[in-house]
Amino acid sequence: MDYFPIFIDIVQRPCLVVGGGDIAYRKINLLLKADAQITCISPEICDGVALLAKDNKITVVNRGFEISDVNAQVLIVSATDDAVLNTQVSDLAKAANIPVNVVDSPDLCSFIMPSIVDRSPIVIAISSAGKAPVLARLIRAKLESTIPNAYGKLASLAGNFRDQVKAKFNNIEDRRYFWEKAFSGIVAEKVFAGKTDEAQVDLQAQLDASTDSEIGEVYLVGGGPGDPDLLTFKALRLIQQADVILHDRLVSDEVMELVRRDAELIYVGKERDNHSVPQDGINQLLVDLAKQGRRVCRLKGGDPFIFGRGGEEIETLAENNIPFQVVPGITAASGCSTYSGIPLTHRDYSQSCRFVTGHLKDGSMNLPWNELAVEQQTIVFYMALKGAQHLSEQLIAHGMRSAMPVALVEKGTTPDHKVHTTTLAELPHLVANETIRAPTLIIVGEVVKLRKKLNWFDAEKQS
Ligand code: SAH
Repeated sequence: MDYFPIFIDIVQRPCLVVGGGDIAYRKINLLLKADAQITCISPEICDGVALLAKDNKITVVNRGFEISDVNAQVLIVSATDDAVLNTQVSDLAKAANIPVNVVDSPDLCSFIMPSIVDRSPIVIAISSAGKAPVLARLIRAKLESTIPNAYGKLASLAGNFRDQVKAKFNNIEDRRYFWEKAFSGIVAEKVFAGKTDEAQVDLQAQLDASTDSEIGEVYLVGGGPGDPDLLTFKALRLIQQADVILHDRLVSDEVMELVRRDAELIYVGKERDNHSVPQDGINQLLVDLAKQGRRVCRLKGGDPFIFGRGGEEIETLAENNIPFQVVPGITAASGCSTYSGIPLTHRDYSQSCRFVTGHLKDGSMNLPWNELAVEQQTIVFYMALKGAQHLSEQLIAHGMRSAMPVALVEKGTTPDHKVHTTTLAELPHLVANETIRAPTLIIVGEVVKLRKKLNWFDAEKQS
Protein backbone atom coordinates (compact mmCIF):
# COMPACT_ATOMS: atom_id res chain seq x y z
CA MET A 1 0.00 0.00 0.00
CA ASP A 2 1.54 3.32 -1.04
CA TYR A 3 -0.85 5.37 1.09
CA PHE A 4 -2.72 4.33 4.19
CA PRO A 5 -6.40 5.23 3.89
CA ILE A 6 -7.98 7.06 6.81
CA PHE A 7 -11.02 9.30 7.24
CA ILE A 8 -10.30 12.48 9.13
CA ASP A 9 -12.72 14.52 11.23
CA ILE A 10 -12.44 18.19 10.19
CA VAL A 11 -15.87 19.32 11.32
CA GLN A 12 -15.46 22.97 12.42
CA ARG A 13 -11.70 22.55 12.49
CA PRO A 14 -9.43 25.16 10.90
CA CYS A 15 -8.27 24.21 7.40
CA LEU A 16 -6.15 26.38 5.14
CA VAL A 17 -6.43 26.66 1.38
CA VAL A 18 -3.65 28.59 -0.33
CA GLY A 19 -4.80 29.91 -3.68
CA GLY A 20 -8.17 31.22 -4.83
CA GLY A 21 -8.63 30.04 -8.42
CA ASP A 22 -10.95 27.42 -9.90
CA ILE A 23 -8.97 24.46 -8.60
CA ALA A 24 -8.84 25.90 -5.10
CA TYR A 25 -12.60 26.47 -5.38
CA ARG A 26 -13.18 22.77 -6.13
CA LYS A 27 -11.07 21.70 -3.16
CA ILE A 28 -12.85 24.20 -0.90
CA ASN A 29 -16.18 22.73 -1.90
CA LEU A 30 -14.97 19.26 -1.00
CA LEU A 31 -13.72 20.39 2.39
CA LEU A 32 -17.01 22.20 2.99
CA LYS A 33 -18.86 18.91 2.56
CA ALA A 34 -17.06 17.76 5.69
CA ASP A 35 -18.03 21.03 7.40
CA ALA A 36 -14.49 22.37 7.74
CA GLN A 37 -13.76 25.91 8.94
CA ILE A 38 -11.89 27.19 5.91
CA THR A 39 -9.53 30.09 5.48
CA CYS A 40 -8.57 30.84 1.89
CA ILE A 41 -5.47 32.94 1.35
CA SER A 42 -4.89 34.51 -2.04
CA PRO A 43 -4.30 37.97 -3.49
CA GLU A 44 -6.87 37.16 -6.17
CA ILE A 45 -9.96 34.98 -5.99
CA CYS A 46 -12.37 33.59 -8.57
CA ASP A 47 -16.10 34.32 -8.54
CA GLY A 48 -17.00 31.02 -6.88
CA VAL A 49 -14.67 31.63 -3.96
CA ALA A 50 -15.95 35.20 -3.65
CA LEU A 51 -19.51 33.94 -3.45
CA LEU A 52 -18.67 31.44 -0.71
CA ALA A 53 -17.03 34.25 1.26
CA LYS A 54 -20.03 36.50 0.73
CA ASP A 55 -22.30 33.74 2.08
CA ASN A 56 -20.00 33.45 5.12
CA LYS A 57 -19.19 29.85 4.30
CA ILE A 58 -15.45 30.53 4.29
CA THR A 59 -13.03 33.28 5.32
CA VAL A 60 -10.97 34.87 2.58
CA VAL A 61 -7.73 36.72 3.31
CA ASN A 62 -6.81 38.87 0.32
CA ARG A 63 -3.05 38.81 0.39
CA GLY A 64 -0.04 36.63 -0.33
CA PHE A 65 0.82 33.60 1.82
CA GLU A 66 2.83 34.20 5.01
CA ILE A 67 4.75 31.66 7.04
CA SER A 68 2.60 32.12 10.13
CA ASP A 69 -0.51 31.15 8.14
CA VAL A 70 0.17 27.47 8.77
CA ASN A 71 -0.12 27.89 12.53
CA ALA A 72 -2.94 26.04 14.24
CA GLN A 73 -4.25 24.47 11.02
CA VAL A 74 -5.34 20.81 11.02
CA LEU A 75 -5.13 20.44 7.23
CA ILE A 76 -3.57 22.45 4.43
CA VAL A 77 -4.23 22.44 0.70
CA SER A 78 -2.05 24.39 -1.67
CA ALA A 79 -3.71 25.04 -5.01
CA THR A 80 -1.64 27.72 -6.66
CA ASP A 81 0.24 27.66 -9.97
CA ASP A 82 3.39 28.96 -8.28
CA ALA A 83 5.73 25.98 -7.84
CA VAL A 84 8.02 27.83 -5.43
CA LEU A 85 5.11 28.84 -3.23
CA ASN A 86 3.63 25.33 -3.33
CA THR A 87 6.97 23.89 -2.18
CA GLN A 88 7.23 26.43 0.60
CA VAL A 89 3.74 25.64 1.87
CA SER A 90 4.49 21.92 1.70
CA ASP A 91 7.79 22.26 3.58
CA LEU A 92 6.27 24.37 6.32
CA ALA A 93 3.31 22.07 6.76
CA LYS A 94 5.47 18.98 6.88
CA ALA A 95 7.81 20.59 9.42
CA ALA A 96 4.78 21.33 11.60
CA ASN A 97 3.37 17.79 11.07
CA ILE A 98 0.24 19.15 9.44
CA PRO A 99 -1.21 17.02 6.65
CA VAL A 100 -0.69 18.84 3.36
CA ASN A 101 -1.94 18.32 -0.18
CA VAL A 102 -0.47 20.18 -3.13
CA VAL A 103 -2.69 19.83 -6.15
CA ASP A 104 -1.12 17.78 -8.93
CA SER A 105 2.25 17.48 -7.13
CA PRO A 106 2.30 14.09 -5.39
CA ASP A 107 5.90 14.62 -4.23
CA LEU A 108 4.86 17.61 -2.17
CA CYS A 109 1.86 15.89 -0.58
CA SER A 110 1.69 14.12 2.74
CA PHE A 111 -1.85 13.07 1.89
CA ILE A 112 -3.73 12.69 -1.36
CA MET A 113 -7.39 13.28 -2.06
CA PRO A 114 -9.17 10.19 -3.34
CA SER A 115 -12.08 9.95 -5.76
CA ILE A 116 -15.17 9.88 -3.60
CA VAL A 117 -18.54 8.16 -3.77
CA ASP A 118 -20.60 10.08 -1.27
CA ARG A 119 -23.56 8.33 0.29
CA SER A 120 -23.02 9.99 3.64
CA PRO A 121 -22.62 8.65 6.19
CA ILE A 122 -21.28 5.95 3.85
CA VAL A 123 -18.30 7.35 1.98
CA ILE A 124 -16.17 5.32 -0.40
CA ALA A 125 -12.72 6.64 -1.23
CA ILE A 126 -10.79 5.33 -4.22
CA SER A 127 -7.14 6.01 -4.82
CA SER A 128 -4.61 4.80 -7.34
CA ALA A 129 -1.79 6.39 -5.33
CA GLY A 130 -1.61 9.02 -8.05
CA LYS A 131 -0.65 6.37 -10.64
CA ALA A 132 -3.88 6.12 -12.61
CA PRO A 133 -6.36 8.81 -11.54
CA VAL A 134 -8.48 8.22 -14.64
CA LEU A 135 -8.88 4.56 -13.71
CA ALA A 136 -9.83 5.56 -10.17
CA ARG A 137 -12.47 7.87 -11.63
CA LEU A 138 -13.80 5.07 -13.85
CA ILE A 139 -14.09 2.80 -10.84
CA ARG A 140 -15.86 5.60 -9.05
CA ALA A 141 -18.33 5.93 -11.92
CA LYS A 142 -19.05 2.22 -11.73
CA LEU A 143 -19.69 2.40 -8.01
CA GLU A 144 -21.82 5.51 -8.41
CA SER A 145 -24.08 3.61 -10.78
CA THR A 146 -24.38 0.44 -8.70
CA ILE A 147 -24.78 1.75 -5.17
CA PRO A 148 -28.26 3.15 -4.65
CA ASN A 149 -28.39 6.68 -3.32
CA ALA A 150 -30.53 5.52 -0.47
CA TYR A 151 -27.65 3.60 1.09
CA GLY A 152 -26.85 6.78 2.95
CA LYS A 153 -30.35 6.82 4.45
CA LEU A 154 -30.04 3.15 5.34
CA ALA A 155 -26.79 3.81 7.16
CA SER A 156 -28.34 6.73 9.04
CA LEU A 157 -31.25 4.54 10.09
CA ALA A 158 -28.82 1.90 11.31
CA GLY A 159 -26.98 4.58 13.25
CA ASN A 160 -30.16 5.40 15.17
CA PHE A 161 -30.50 1.76 16.25
CA ARG A 162 -26.86 1.07 16.97
CA ASP A 163 -27.01 1.40 20.76
CA GLN A 164 -30.21 -0.60 21.08
CA VAL A 165 -28.81 -3.43 18.98
CA LYS A 166 -25.59 -3.41 20.93
CA ALA A 167 -27.52 -3.65 24.18
CA LYS A 168 -29.61 -6.55 22.91
CA PHE A 169 -26.82 -8.70 21.48
CA ASN A 170 -23.58 -8.87 23.36
CA ASN A 171 -22.12 -11.27 20.86
CA ILE A 172 -20.59 -9.57 17.83
CA GLU A 173 -21.64 -12.39 15.49
CA ASP A 174 -25.29 -12.06 16.53
CA ARG A 175 -25.12 -8.35 15.93
CA ARG A 176 -23.66 -8.84 12.49
CA TYR A 177 -26.33 -11.39 11.67
CA PHE A 178 -29.06 -9.00 12.75
CA TRP A 179 -27.67 -6.20 10.60
CA GLU A 180 -27.07 -8.34 7.56
CA LYS A 181 -30.64 -9.52 7.67
CA ALA A 182 -31.87 -5.94 7.98
CA PHE A 183 -29.66 -4.67 5.17
CA SER A 184 -30.59 -7.40 2.73
CA GLY A 185 -34.30 -7.70 3.51
CA ILE A 186 -37.52 -5.74 3.70
CA VAL A 187 -36.06 -2.91 5.81
CA ALA A 188 -33.56 -2.04 3.10
CA GLU A 189 -36.18 -2.38 0.39
CA LYS A 190 -38.44 0.09 2.18
CA VAL A 191 -35.65 2.62 2.58
CA PHE A 192 -34.83 2.29 -1.12
CA ALA A 193 -38.51 2.89 -1.90
CA GLY A 194 -38.44 6.10 0.14
CA LYS A 195 -40.51 4.66 3.02
CA THR A 196 -38.05 5.41 5.79
CA ASP A 197 -40.71 5.65 8.52
CA GLU A 198 -42.09 2.20 7.73
CA ALA A 199 -38.57 0.83 7.58
CA GLN A 200 -37.95 2.19 11.07
CA VAL A 201 -41.05 0.44 12.43
CA ASP A 202 -40.02 -2.84 10.76
CA LEU A 203 -36.51 -2.64 12.09
CA GLN A 204 -37.81 -2.09 15.61
CA ALA A 205 -40.14 -5.09 15.21
CA GLN A 206 -37.26 -7.25 14.02
CA LEU A 207 -35.17 -6.19 16.95
CA ASP A 208 -37.94 -6.93 19.44
CA ALA A 209 -38.66 -10.32 17.90
CA SER A 210 -35.20 -11.76 17.44
CA THR A 211 -33.77 -14.15 19.94
CA ASP A 212 -30.24 -15.34 20.31
CA SER A 213 -31.00 -18.96 19.53
CA GLU A 214 -31.97 -18.75 15.86
CA ILE A 215 -31.13 -21.62 13.58
CA GLY A 216 -28.55 -20.89 10.91
CA GLU A 217 -28.57 -21.61 7.24
CA VAL A 218 -26.39 -23.47 4.77
CA TYR A 219 -25.41 -22.12 1.38
CA LEU A 220 -24.22 -24.76 -1.04
CA VAL A 221 -22.26 -22.61 -3.44
CA GLY A 222 -20.65 -23.41 -6.76
CA GLY A 223 -17.28 -21.68 -6.81
CA GLY A 224 -16.64 -22.28 -10.51
CA PRO A 225 -13.51 -23.80 -12.05
CA GLY A 226 -10.97 -21.30 -10.71
CA ASP A 227 -11.15 -17.82 -12.21
CA PRO A 228 -12.91 -15.72 -9.54
CA ASP A 229 -14.52 -13.58 -12.24
CA LEU A 230 -16.64 -16.59 -13.09
CA LEU A 231 -18.46 -16.53 -9.77
CA THR A 232 -22.09 -15.46 -9.84
CA PHE A 233 -23.13 -12.32 -7.95
CA LYS A 234 -25.13 -14.52 -5.62
CA ALA A 235 -22.16 -16.77 -4.90
CA LEU A 236 -20.03 -13.75 -4.08
CA ARG A 237 -22.67 -12.25 -1.81
CA LEU A 238 -23.16 -15.47 0.15
CA ILE A 239 -19.44 -16.20 0.35
CA GLN A 240 -18.98 -12.80 1.92
CA GLN A 241 -21.89 -13.26 4.27
CA ALA A 242 -21.05 -16.68 5.69
CA ASP A 243 -19.58 -17.11 9.17
CA VAL A 244 -18.02 -20.48 8.34
CA ILE A 245 -16.71 -21.76 5.03
CA LEU A 246 -16.18 -25.45 4.33
CA HIS A 247 -13.96 -25.68 1.30
CA ASP A 248 -11.97 -28.32 -0.50
CA ARG A 249 -9.06 -28.68 -2.88
CA LEU A 250 -11.02 -27.74 -5.98
CA VAL A 251 -11.80 -24.22 -4.80
CA SER A 252 -9.11 -21.93 -6.21
CA ASP A 253 -6.91 -19.69 -4.06
CA GLU A 254 -8.25 -16.67 -5.94
CA VAL A 255 -11.82 -17.55 -4.96
CA MET A 256 -10.76 -18.16 -1.36
CA GLU A 257 -9.34 -14.63 -1.33
CA LEU A 258 -12.92 -13.36 -1.56
CA VAL A 259 -14.29 -14.91 1.62
CA ARG A 260 -14.95 -12.70 4.59
CA ARG A 261 -11.67 -12.00 6.40
CA ASP A 262 -12.93 -13.12 9.77
CA ALA A 263 -14.88 -16.16 8.59
CA GLU A 264 -13.85 -19.51 10.03
CA LEU A 265 -12.32 -21.71 7.33
CA ILE A 266 -12.66 -25.45 7.52
CA TYR A 267 -10.75 -27.50 4.97
CA VAL A 268 -12.54 -30.73 4.20
CA GLY A 269 -9.99 -32.01 1.72
CA LYS A 270 -11.14 -34.40 -0.96
CA GLU A 271 -7.92 -35.24 -2.67
CA ARG A 272 -8.32 -38.30 -4.83
CA ASP A 273 -8.46 -41.37 -2.60
CA ASN A 274 -7.57 -39.23 0.41
CA HIS A 275 -10.69 -37.67 1.84
CA SER A 276 -9.58 -35.51 4.79
CA VAL A 277 -13.11 -35.53 6.15
CA PRO A 278 -15.30 -38.42 4.99
CA GLN A 279 -18.51 -37.45 3.18
CA ASP A 280 -20.72 -38.43 6.14
CA GLY A 281 -18.59 -36.25 8.35
CA ILE A 282 -19.06 -33.25 6.04
CA ASN A 283 -22.81 -33.79 5.90
CA GLN A 284 -23.03 -33.94 9.68
CA LEU A 285 -20.71 -30.97 10.18
CA LEU A 286 -23.00 -28.82 8.03
CA VAL A 287 -25.97 -29.79 10.20
CA ASP A 288 -24.13 -29.18 13.47
CA LEU A 289 -22.81 -25.78 12.46
CA ALA A 290 -26.21 -24.60 11.25
CA LYS A 291 -27.79 -25.78 14.49
CA GLN A 292 -25.38 -23.48 16.32
CA GLY A 293 -27.11 -20.64 14.48
CA ARG A 294 -24.27 -20.03 12.07
CA ARG A 295 -24.41 -19.18 8.38
CA VAL A 296 -22.44 -21.90 6.75
CA CYS A 297 -21.14 -21.83 3.22
CA ARG A 298 -20.24 -25.15 1.67
CA LEU A 299 -18.07 -23.90 -1.14
CA LYS A 300 -17.40 -26.36 -3.93
CA GLY A 301 -15.47 -26.26 -7.15
CA GLY A 302 -17.49 -25.90 -10.34
CA ASP A 303 -21.19 -26.61 -9.96
CA PRO A 304 -22.33 -28.34 -6.76
CA PHE A 305 -24.77 -30.59 -8.61
CA ILE A 306 -22.30 -31.85 -11.21
CA PHE A 307 -20.10 -34.61 -9.79
CA GLY A 308 -20.03 -32.59 -6.62
CA ARG A 309 -22.02 -34.71 -4.19
CA GLY A 310 -24.02 -31.57 -3.57
CA GLY A 311 -27.19 -33.65 -3.58
CA GLU A 312 -25.99 -35.86 -0.75
CA GLU A 313 -24.99 -32.90 1.38
CA ILE A 314 -28.33 -31.17 1.16
CA GLU A 315 -30.27 -34.40 1.61
CA THR A 316 -28.91 -34.57 5.14
CA LEU A 317 -29.83 -30.91 5.65
CA ALA A 318 -33.36 -31.48 4.43
CA GLU A 319 -33.75 -34.47 6.78
CA ASN A 320 -32.72 -32.23 9.67
CA ASN A 321 -34.94 -29.30 8.65
CA ILE A 322 -32.01 -26.97 8.15
CA PRO A 323 -32.76 -24.15 5.71
CA PHE A 324 -30.46 -24.13 2.70
CA GLN A 325 -29.89 -22.47 -0.66
CA VAL A 326 -28.02 -23.87 -3.62
CA VAL A 327 -26.09 -21.57 -5.96
CA PRO A 328 -25.07 -22.99 -9.32
CA GLY A 329 -21.54 -22.50 -10.53
CA ILE A 330 -19.76 -22.75 -13.84
CA THR A 331 -18.88 -26.39 -14.18
CA ALA A 332 -15.37 -27.44 -15.24
CA ALA A 333 -16.61 -28.63 -18.65
CA SER A 334 -17.97 -25.21 -19.45
CA GLY A 335 -15.10 -23.17 -17.99
CA CYS A 336 -12.29 -25.34 -19.35
CA SER A 337 -13.74 -25.65 -22.84
CA THR A 338 -14.49 -21.97 -23.31
CA TYR A 339 -11.09 -20.90 -21.95
CA SER A 340 -9.47 -23.37 -24.35
CA GLY A 341 -11.34 -22.22 -27.44
CA ILE A 342 -13.22 -25.52 -27.74
CA PRO A 343 -16.98 -25.13 -28.25
CA LEU A 344 -18.69 -28.15 -26.72
CA THR A 345 -21.20 -28.26 -29.54
CA HIS A 346 -20.90 -27.07 -33.13
CA ARG A 347 -23.34 -27.39 -36.01
CA ASP A 348 -20.75 -29.20 -38.15
CA TYR A 349 -19.02 -31.40 -35.61
CA SER A 350 -21.14 -32.17 -32.59
CA GLN A 351 -24.86 -32.10 -31.87
CA SER A 352 -24.67 -33.35 -28.32
CA CYS A 353 -22.38 -33.33 -25.38
CA ARG A 354 -22.02 -35.73 -22.48
CA PHE A 355 -20.48 -35.11 -19.07
CA VAL A 356 -19.09 -38.40 -17.79
CA THR A 357 -17.20 -39.45 -14.68
CA GLY A 358 -13.95 -41.15 -15.51
CA HIS A 359 -13.30 -42.19 -11.92
CA LEU A 360 -11.63 -45.59 -11.88
CA LYS A 361 -13.16 -48.11 -9.56
CA ASP A 362 -11.33 -51.44 -9.30
CA GLY A 363 -9.32 -50.49 -12.39
CA SER A 364 -12.28 -49.85 -14.69
CA MET A 365 -15.15 -47.49 -15.44
CA ASN A 366 -18.69 -48.66 -15.53
CA LEU A 367 -19.81 -46.66 -18.57
CA PRO A 368 -22.14 -47.27 -21.55
CA TRP A 369 -19.23 -47.33 -24.03
CA ASN A 370 -21.47 -48.08 -27.02
CA GLU A 371 -23.36 -44.84 -26.44
CA LEU A 372 -20.14 -42.90 -26.01
CA ALA A 373 -18.18 -44.17 -29.00
CA VAL A 374 -20.29 -42.36 -31.58
CA GLU A 375 -19.67 -39.57 -34.08
CA GLN A 376 -20.99 -36.01 -33.82
CA GLN A 377 -20.79 -36.00 -30.04
CA THR A 378 -18.45 -34.42 -27.50
CA ILE A 379 -17.57 -36.34 -24.37
CA VAL A 380 -16.19 -34.53 -21.34
CA PHE A 381 -14.53 -36.79 -18.80
CA TYR A 382 -14.24 -35.53 -15.23
CA MET A 383 -11.82 -37.19 -12.78
CA ALA A 384 -10.28 -39.22 -15.59
CA LEU A 385 -6.54 -38.54 -15.39
CA LYS A 386 -5.77 -41.92 -13.81
CA GLY A 387 -8.21 -43.64 -16.11
CA ALA A 388 -6.98 -42.04 -19.36
CA GLN A 389 -5.51 -45.25 -20.74
CA HIS A 390 -8.62 -47.22 -19.91
CA LEU A 391 -10.99 -44.77 -21.58
CA SER A 392 -8.81 -44.56 -24.66
CA GLU A 393 -8.78 -48.36 -25.01
CA GLN A 394 -12.49 -48.70 -24.37
CA LEU A 395 -13.57 -46.01 -26.84
CA ILE A 396 -11.35 -47.46 -29.57
CA ALA A 397 -12.53 -50.99 -28.78
CA HIS A 398 -16.12 -49.79 -29.17
CA GLY A 399 -15.47 -48.31 -32.61
CA MET A 400 -14.28 -44.75 -32.10
CA ARG A 401 -11.59 -43.61 -34.56
CA SER A 402 -8.15 -43.72 -33.00
CA ALA A 403 -7.40 -40.33 -34.61
CA MET A 404 -10.28 -38.67 -32.75
CA PRO A 405 -8.93 -35.37 -31.34
CA VAL A 406 -8.58 -35.14 -27.56
CA ALA A 407 -7.76 -32.22 -25.27
CA LEU A 408 -6.53 -32.39 -21.69
CA VAL A 409 -7.21 -29.18 -19.83
CA GLU A 410 -5.08 -28.79 -16.75
CA LYS A 411 -6.12 -26.34 -13.98
CA GLY A 412 -8.56 -24.74 -16.36
CA THR A 413 -9.31 -20.98 -16.10
CA THR A 414 -6.63 -20.46 -13.42
CA PRO A 415 -3.29 -18.70 -13.96
CA ASP A 416 -1.85 -22.21 -14.51
CA HIS A 417 -4.34 -23.09 -17.24
CA LYS A 418 -2.67 -25.46 -19.69
CA VAL A 419 -4.03 -27.40 -22.64
CA HIS A 420 -2.50 -30.50 -24.23
CA THR A 421 -4.00 -31.75 -27.47
CA THR A 422 -3.52 -35.24 -28.84
CA THR A 423 -5.48 -38.09 -30.37
CA LEU A 424 -7.41 -40.85 -28.70
CA ALA A 425 -4.70 -43.41 -29.53
CA GLU A 426 -1.90 -41.19 -28.29
CA LEU A 427 -3.66 -40.12 -25.08
CA PRO A 428 -2.10 -42.81 -22.81
CA HIS A 429 1.41 -41.90 -23.99
CA LEU A 430 0.83 -38.23 -23.36
CA VAL A 431 -0.39 -38.88 -19.83
CA ALA A 432 2.51 -41.27 -19.17
CA ASN A 433 5.21 -38.94 -20.53
CA GLU A 434 4.13 -35.48 -19.45
CA THR A 435 3.70 -34.13 -15.94
CA ILE A 436 0.03 -33.33 -15.85
CA ARG A 437 -1.39 -31.98 -12.66
CA ALA A 438 -4.88 -32.34 -11.26
CA PRO A 439 -7.49 -31.12 -11.68
CA THR A 440 -7.61 -32.11 -15.30
CA LEU A 441 -10.51 -32.49 -17.65
CA ILE A 442 -10.46 -34.62 -20.79
CA ILE A 443 -12.47 -33.54 -23.83
CA VAL A 444 -12.96 -36.01 -26.66
CA GLY A 445 -14.47 -35.00 -30.01
CA GLU A 446 -13.99 -33.30 -33.37
CA VAL A 447 -14.65 -29.94 -31.72
CA VAL A 448 -11.16 -30.07 -30.21
CA LYS A 449 -9.81 -29.23 -33.69
CA LEU A 450 -11.45 -25.80 -33.49
CA ARG A 451 -9.02 -24.76 -30.77
CA LYS A 452 -6.38 -23.99 -33.40
CA LYS A 453 -8.54 -21.17 -34.68
CA LEU A 454 -10.51 -20.16 -31.60
CA ASN A 455 -7.96 -20.23 -28.83
CA TRP A 456 -8.09 -16.85 -27.11
CA PHE A 457 -7.02 -17.34 -23.50
CA ASP A 458 -3.35 -17.09 -22.63
CA ALA A 459 -2.91 -17.78 -18.92
CA GLU A 460 0.61 -16.37 -18.92
CA LYS A 461 -0.54 -13.07 -20.34
CA GLN A 462 -3.40 -12.86 -17.87
CA SER A 463 -1.43 -13.51 -14.71
N1 SAH B 1 -18.40 -30.05 -9.33
C1 SAH B 1 -17.24 -29.90 -10.17
C2 SAH B 1 -16.62 -31.22 -10.54
C3 SAH B 1 -16.09 -32.03 -9.39
S1 SAH B 1 -15.35 -33.52 -9.90
C4 SAH B 1 -17.60 -29.11 -11.41
O1 SAH B 1 -18.79 -28.88 -11.68
O2 SAH B 1 -16.69 -28.70 -12.12
C5 SAH B 1 -13.65 -33.07 -9.98
C6 SAH B 1 -13.16 -33.05 -11.41
O3 SAH B 1 -13.58 -31.87 -12.05
C7 SAH B 1 -11.67 -33.05 -11.53
O4 SAH B 1 -11.13 -34.34 -11.41
C8 SAH B 1 -11.48 -32.49 -12.92
O5 SAH B 1 -11.72 -33.48 -13.88
C9 SAH B 1 -12.63 -31.51 -13.02
N2 SAH B 1 -12.19 -30.12 -12.74
C10 SAH B 1 -12.65 -29.32 -11.79
N3 SAH B 1 -12.07 -28.10 -11.87
C11 SAH B 1 -11.22 -28.15 -12.90
C12 SAH B 1 -10.31 -27.22 -13.50
N4 SAH B 1 -10.18 -25.98 -13.03
N5 SAH B 1 -9.57 -27.62 -14.56
C13 SAH B 1 -9.70 -28.87 -15.04
N6 SAH B 1 -10.53 -29.77 -14.52
C14 SAH B 1 -11.28 -29.44 -13.46
